Amino acid sequence: MLMQEAIIRAERVEKYYAQPSENRIQVISPTDLSIVPGEIVALLGPSGSGKSTLMRMMTGLSEPSAGQVYWHEKPIAMADVNVSIVFQSFALFPWLTVFENVEAPLKARGMEPADRRKRANKILDTVGLDGFQAAYPKELSGGMRQRVGFARALVVEPEVLFMDEPFSALDVLTAENLRSELLELWQKKTIPTQAIFIVTHNIEEAVLLADRIIVLGRNPGHIRTDFKVSLVHPRDRKASAFTQLVDYIYKVLTQPDAKPPELPQTTTGRPVRDQRQMHYQMLPHARPGGIAGLLEILLDHSGKDDIYRLADDLAFEIDDLLPIVDAAQLLGFLKVNEGDAAITETGTEYANSEILRQKELFRIAAVENVLLLRQIVRAIEAKSDRTVPEEFFHDMLDEQFSEDETIRQLETAINWGRYAELFDFDASRRRFIQTEKLHHETEVETAAEIDA
Ligand code: ADP
Ligand code: MG
Repeated sequence: MLMQEAIIRAERVEKYYAQPSENRIQVISPTDLSIVPGEIVALLGPSGSGKSTLMRMMTGLSEPSAGQVYWHEKPIAMADVNVSIVFQSFALFPWLTVFENVEAPLKARGMEPADRRKRANKILDTVGLDGFQAAYPKELSGGMRQRVGFARALVVEPEVLFMDEPFSALDVLTAENLRSELLELWQKKTIPTQAIFIVTHNIEEAVLLADRIIVLGRNPGHIRTDFKVSLVHPRDRKASAFTQLVDYIYKVLTQPDAKPPELPQTTTGRPVRDQRQMHYQMLPHARPGGIAGLLEILLDHSGKDDIYRLADDLAFEIDDLLPIVDAAQLLGFLKVNEGDAAITETGTEYANSEILRQKELFRIAAVENVLLLRQIVRAIEAKSDRTVPEEFFHDMLDEQFSEDETIRQLETAINWGRYAELFDFDASRRRFIQTEKLHHETEVETAAEIDA
């Protein structure tokens, strides 16, 4: 197979920031990454993982602390680079009209006024801004402002179009509309752009648009997976291949320390089997109180809502909401489908119950769905002194998770176990112990459930 020549190629690029002390903050660990003609690449990752930093180095806007970026195999600092960037914040000049904003980059490149006018008007027409030439940005809606952002980026006919969360500041419908228009321009080759690189933390957006998806992990930023998406356009969000891929990426993002799960076979409708059945699930780092809060809000929103909209409504970072959603899903309190979280029957009962009944429902769900909690309960039951050292589980988890993650997993298990009154933890002896029972009925039920 012929290797396609990269337009931009990053070789072992790193970014770190100097500190007053000896230590430096490493933001990106040594990374190789190429952008080749003909592809839309989506870069996904939790916030703070270094997506913007990596993107800026690929554009030549920011110099790597180590390593090198090449533009057509020439060091990028010395090359005649032709890229544009669209920002989430639109970054328009408020004192310039729409037309002047779009014309500005051509002026900066020294193009003659007549040519500038022709090019600017053509692109304004292409992105649906004809008639808005004389308007000022503040007179426009967010969606129209971002159209200006696109027009300004496209007017220079960039070889690579970079976008940093371009749709994140827009409402769902406006974002959907702009996304499909952009895709149409790209597919019909209305724009001469050779490659598109989009930074996003919206999983569905990545799966809707991209030919290739890269997922970054954090501390420091590194590539966790990089794979091609072969679904045909227009992509159907309801197709099983689509939802499988969304689920897969969702898993990769919510299990930052586990090995990425196997990729689904995106071209067939075959359901993916859980290959990790015999292993520990990764417990999302969420508190029972947060899970209860989420379920109550969902119930308020007639039982179903888009996760991203929910995060927005709650002024949550999506990365902070995802573990809570994941935990509720693991416990069977809600189901996620196409980015919508829908509360289940048990979830509804849980949200509607008073505290003791909530604990009971949580206990049943936890023992049923969470291997680690089940094992801790069984181990305590099996011991005559009704205590088990933490170390025992530490060593088993250790096989699968990093040391930090093992500790976090145990912390979460202790938190859930205490809340559900499944067991208690004696921190001075580092041992799991039996819960001191205050409610007699509860004790009987617990024993019955665990036997079952
Ligand atoms: P993302 O776009 O994925 O949210 P960024 O690339 O913006 O992430 O930032 C990655 C990390 O780099 C963050 O933890 C941020 O705090 C850190 N960072 C960015 N700029 C600087 C700087 N000038 N000095 C120190 N740390 C920085
Ligand atoms: Mg960013």
